[in-house]
Amino acid sequence: RNMDPFEYNANPGRVVFGPGSIQKLPDEIKRLGLKSPLLLSTPQQVSQAEDLAKILTSASIEPAGTYTNATMHTPSHITEEAMSFLHSKSADCVVSIGGGSTIGLGKAISIRTGLYHICIPTTYAGSEMTPILGETQDGRKATRSDPKILPGTVIYDVDFTMTLPVALSATSGVNAIAHAVEALYAKNKNPIISLLAIEGTKALAESLPEIIENAQSQPAREKAQYGAWLCGVCLGSSAMALHHKLCHTLGGSFNLPHAETHTIVLPHALSYNAPAIPEAMEKLATALPGSEGDATKGLNVLLEKLKVKRALKDYGMKEEDIDKAAEIAVSNQYPNPRKIEKEPIRELIRRAWAGEPAR
Ligand code: NAD
Repeated sequence: RNMDPFEYNANPGRVVFGPGSIQKLPDEIKRLGLKSPLLLSTPQQVSQAEDLAKILTSASIEPAGTYTNATMHTPSHITEEAMSFLHSKSADCVVSIGGGSTIGLGKAISIRTGLYHICIPTTYAGSEMTPILGETQDGRKATRSDPKILPGTVIYDVDFTMTLPVALSATSGVNAIAHAVEALYAKNKNPIISLLAIEGTKALAESLPEIIENAQSQPAREKAQYGAWLCGVCLGSSAMALHHKLCHTLGGSFNLPHAETHTIVLPHALSYNAPAIPEAMEKLATALPGSEGDATKGLNVLLEKLKVKRALKDYGMKEEDIDKAAEIAVSNQYPNPRKIEKEPIRELIRRAWAGEPAR
């Protein structure tokens, strides 16, 4: 039989990967002909931003300044504060060190100013590989996509991920797997991205349980980071469906934490779509140890090993919110392999709320 026809667009972007690769940051800045970076971090990662400043100074690059107030969901008042800080300095590029929150701020500044953006990711969320930016104003998150949002250079240095707390390593890693899962059945799926999805899932499914056992294992952390990179490419190249839309709704409407929500919802979203995606299920099962040919089972096994919370109610979602969530989830239409229907979607959300395993 012939292959399915497809279209493929590669996102540009340079990746520098390896332990200690942060030492190459000064050269990366110099090769672009730049000399005055604005550094970005969250309040929790100030010391990592300070490490960067030291590395730069010792290579005769003086940072223009360090803004350390990056916040989850890129609130517009924080971006405005960072922009006025930037205007008081003379920066010619932005360097974000952190997870999706800090990288989001880097993207928000870069798209407003045209400044070159270098990312140093410290979680597995994958934002550094996408041309997507979600920004929050008055409690509402609006997402846009623009090739100019894609960061120019990404430095993956495992050493900066060693401090990622074990629980967040687990959920952030499953957040990455979710990007790969939805890439396998995306309306614009293609064989190249599917290869990355399987390889990325495999790397994470093998390394995350090792990190739970030994958070200081550098090889396990490096393998997870490699997997997260590939899964980030999947997110940046594929149209996401039910799982991502549900997590967006739940996160935005009920203020649930990003990576943790992804972790709880993923097996349920997959089992909802399973009847419509036999090929993707089969491929995915090969990447999940213990699946015995059933990808949903493989995810359940993985989450078991990762000792993560399985119920949205554990994060404060109320029982009466189930109906509201189902309402919102079916109110906007988007491509998904299986039709989005109110009753089964409500049951999906109820199971995720209660913490019942996906079937
Ligand atoms: P995060 O960036 O919010 O980080 C969570 C917390 O962990 C923060 O306090 C952070 O400082 C801390 N942290 C991160 N790395 C650490 C490390 N190595 N050591 C110690 N502490 C560390 O979490 P996230 O899950 O990476 O990002 C979530 C946000 O990113 C959400 O707003 C989400 O919508 C967005 N996101 C966007 C995209 C995109 O493509 N636009 C993709 C993924 C996530």
